[in-house]
Amino acid sequence: MGEDQRLRVVIVGGGTAGWMTAAALTKLLPTRCDVHLVESEAIGIVGVGEATLPHIRAFNERLGINEAEFMAATRATFKLGIEFQNWGKIGDSYIHPFGTFGRGTGEVEFHHYWARQFRDGPAPGAMGDYSMAVTMAYLNRFMLPDPDPAKLESTFSYAYQFDATLFAPFLQRVAQGLGARRTEGRIVDVELDGESGDIGAVVLESGERIDGDLFVDCSGFVSLLMGRKLEEPFEDWSHWLPCDRAVAMPCKTQTALTPFTGAIAMPAGWRWRIPLQHRTGNGYVYSSAHVSDDEARDALVAAVEGEPIAEPRVLKFKAGRRRRSWVGNCIAVGLSSGFLEPLESTSIYLIQAAISRLVELFPERNISPLDRDEFNRLIDIEYDRIRDFLILHYHATTRDDSPFWDHVRTMRVPDTLHEKMELFRRRGRVAKYREGVFLDASWIAVYIGQGIVPDGHDMRADLPSSTALANAMSALRSEIRQRAEAMPDHRAHIERYCPMAEAA
Ligand SMILES: Cc1cc2nc3c(=O)[nH]c(=O)nc-3n(C[C@H](O)[C@H](O)[C@H](O)COP(=O)(O)OP(=O)(O)OC[C@H]3O[C@@H](n4cnc5c(N)ncnc54)[C@H](O)[C@@H]3O)c2cc1C
Repeated sequence: MGEDQRLRVVIVGGGTAGWMTAAALTKLLPTRCDVHLVESEAIGIVGVGEATLPHIRAFNERLGINEAEFMAATRATFKLGIEFQNWGKIGDSYIHPFGTFGRGTGEVEFHHYWARQFRDGPAPGAMGDYSMAVTMAYLNRFMLPDPDPAKLESTFSYAYQFDATLFAPFLQRVAQGLGARRTEGRIVDVELDGESGDIGAVVLESGERIDGDLFVDCSGFVSLLMGRKLEEPFEDWSHWLPCDRAVAMPCKTQTALTPFTGAIAMPAGWRWRIPLQHRTGNGYVYSSAHVSDDEARDALVAAVEGEPIAEPRVLKFKAGRRRRSWVGNCIAVGLSSGFLEPLESTSIYLIQAAISRLVELFPERNISPLDRDEFNRLIDIEYDRIRDFLILHYHATTRDDSPFWDHVRTMRVPDTLHEKMELFRRRGRVAKYREGVFLDASWIAVYIGQGIVPDGHDMRADLPSSTALANAMSALRSEIRQRAEAMPDHRAHIERYCPMAEAA
């Protein structure tokens, strides 16, 4: 490929989105582009975003990142899922695990058998008792999954919980090692080409002008290029997802190192608890229409388990997304493209999804509208699916103890979600998506965890006799427990595999 075919890619912003994009483009398209990232230390990064989804492992692998090195550098722990407390009703708790329920090999999904026994007896116990990931999580155990699909130890997956302020610097080293350029400075102007309306250059406070062919807006909530300059409209979803603020405060870890993220429902939102190697991240995500900043801060301070190690910090946001994420020669990645609250740790996944699509549809000098439309279509799907999944958590509740819960319980949900919930209620069927992040087991975990048990089931689950089914279920539950009990303690595994360096 001739030099003139290489695109000059300018990435605006050096947070998680910026450096993930820089690392991926330099690694995966080294002959197609030159990457130049601009960031401002004075502005800084959002500095939250500690819990991830298993997909991040594939991203790191494609970049050739060594897992143990990455985990040590970001002071990471393993994450087997998210524990939801007090969501369906006060006193409830369940884990949305990464992995399947049952052995994950049968023709009929496990939850159909569970639902049959739940209705006909004897009581099968919690769905989580039939999940390797859930059982390990509650026992604080961890080992890497077994590659042999015949083994129960292959039925779980995992993600990471890491220090958000250390991930971008880690990727910066990777990207710069692969040839990405970095310029420090505050962008004060964005120049448009008078004829095409495309972005031509960004101008720094120092007067330096950086021009390019393709601009990736990773500037965070400010959305410098896509929002401010190109004025791409923002689709506001706060009527479905009313939480619009978070107060965050890390503390010392005083309990066992749990291999899962906590999401504890609160009167006007929910509270996260994320155990890292060196501290625990905490935050209260709330609706400012239902609780004041001061009340939220006091509630968080009262709830955290360990000694605080920083002052509480309030962050403001709005649920929704830019109508299009790729406009002209500008692509928004990360918070500049939209935000869905962190309940299911989806933001970094959305960054990854946008980067993967960009790599697959990387343009020639003349950008094809077909590629752009396809990119936007795929990103829309990702956002829509996650939006529905998040709304489900709020809507599938019997809580009526505060105006916030009354609102989310009774609100009208998107038709796409309403239909999906009805289908599950009727006979336990999970509407299949060809694209989108959460697979059947995730939906099943939340439906059942929050009290939506189907009225019927797949008729093939009627095949075993009641006694044979009850015996098989009981044997499976015991086997899962025994296997989990034989695994190493989570902290012990980390100390062997990826202990953090003493000084950051
Ligand atoms: C409360 C909260 C909790 C979250 N928890 C999670 C979670 O658990 N899991 C998850 O996946 N995600 C989470 N997220 C989202 C996650 O934090 C972000 O998706 C991620 O950090 C990416 O941010 P970013 O890179 O888009 O923006 P930022 O980190 O804000 O980076 C923006 C960059 O742009 C630069 N910049 C801005 N303006 C200019 C300018 N004028 N000139 C030069 N540079 C500029 C800044 O200096 C910075 O480098 C959470 C978000 C919030 C608000």
